[in-house]
Amino acid sequence: MQQGPRKQDKLLFTPGPLTTSPTVKQAALRDLGSRDHEFIGIVRNIRRKLLELGGVADRGFEAILMQGSGTFAIESVLSSTVPPDGKLVAVVNGAYGRRIAQIARTLKITVTELACPEDQRPDTEQLGRVLEADPSITHVAVVHSETSTGMINPVREIGEIVKHFNRIYFVDAMSSFGGMPLNLVDCRIDYLVSSANKCLEGIPGFAFVLAQREALLSTAGFARGVSLDLLAQWKGLEADGQFRFTPPTHALLAFHQALRELEAEGGVESRAARYRTNYQVLSEGMRELGFEGYLRPEERGYIITAFRYPQHPKFDFGEFYAHLSEKGYVIYPGKVSTADCFRIGCIGHLFPDDMRGLLGAIRETLAEMGITLCPAVVAK
Ligand SMILES: *Cc1c(COP(=O)(O)O)cnc(C)c1O
Repeated sequence: MQQGPRKQDKLLFTPGPLTTSPTVKQAALRDLGSRDHEFIGIVRNIRRKLLELGGVADRGFEAILMQGSGTFAIESVLSSTVPPDGKLVAVVNGAYGRRIAQIARTLKITVTELACPEDQRPDTEQLGRVLEADPSITHVAVVHSETSTGMINPVREIGEIVKHFNRIYFVDAMSSFGGMPLNLVDCRIDYLVSSANKCLEGIPGFAFVLAQREALLSTAGFARGVSLDLLAQWKGLEADGQFRFTPPTHALLAFHQALRELEAEGGVESRAARYRTNYQVLSEGMRELGFEGYLRPEERGYIITAFRYPQHPKFDFGEFYAHLSEKGYVIYPGKVSTADCFRIGCIGHLFPDDMRGLLGAIRETLAEMGITLCPAVVAK
């Protein structure tokens, strides 16, 4: 079990904010000036390590840090890399895909949603037909790990199609980067976005963009705002190593420590193995308790899992959630539009024993609520 400096902190089985290690939290407890040499060195180091994690150090990519949560970085990419007459196709099979389209519409960017049901993989052949039919489409965006269901979308396959038609490719890898091996060159990605407080296990406060340098350099004049201007942010970081506006120094210090801890754990492969084990313990235990996953097992990733509300007159999510929270376990509401679900995340500073602890608390909670479920006989 994890030992926190404050044992009373609940464990967060959510898609963020996530449980972080005591040492990551402690690393934030310093006041460092934004022009301090040490701080500038840390920012340089973080940018370098992010490129390495994406497999693109010295391969024509840049790492750009952006203040705010993950969505700010998504908005930054969309608002400052799509030309004024650009057109976006958003591949949508969940709430986070829809959010990309919503941001684009708000920015007055012409956007087509290539939507498919939330329990299905995107139709890549249809994407090919759409791109072939409309040469004025400039960008394609997709979510890697669709955090509303736990689906892992085929970003490499989609990248091949996007590049076959020579368009710009944007991937929201918010909930997967650092927890699933992903190489931007192999997947043909031009812009990838993730945040400090998902699989990299830092504290919230900033997000980052990995950008193909040539693509980025060709976006001069596209920005639709000042604070989220991606090219300007990059130029600032390159010029003097500093952010243009107040940097989240404490979050960056914590993140630097979090990257060290990722390395000590053995890198992305080892972290992926821990998360996968977390998922296996969870998925087996929930099945034994009688819960049904929203996605078919073969479509599920190990980052987060959506479970259907059990068919029982006494089940009430609010009550279920409150009981678990009282026991120190925080789960997450659902985000599937057509089914009543709740979600349990396997990422963050969580270990198989934490998953077992949660399963025990769920068992107790069901008993307290007077709910008996019949475990499914076949399904995984
Ligand atoms: C968490 C998440 C986001 C948004 O992140 P915020 O930090 O809440 O802004 C976007 N996309 C995906 C896939 C996510 O999991």
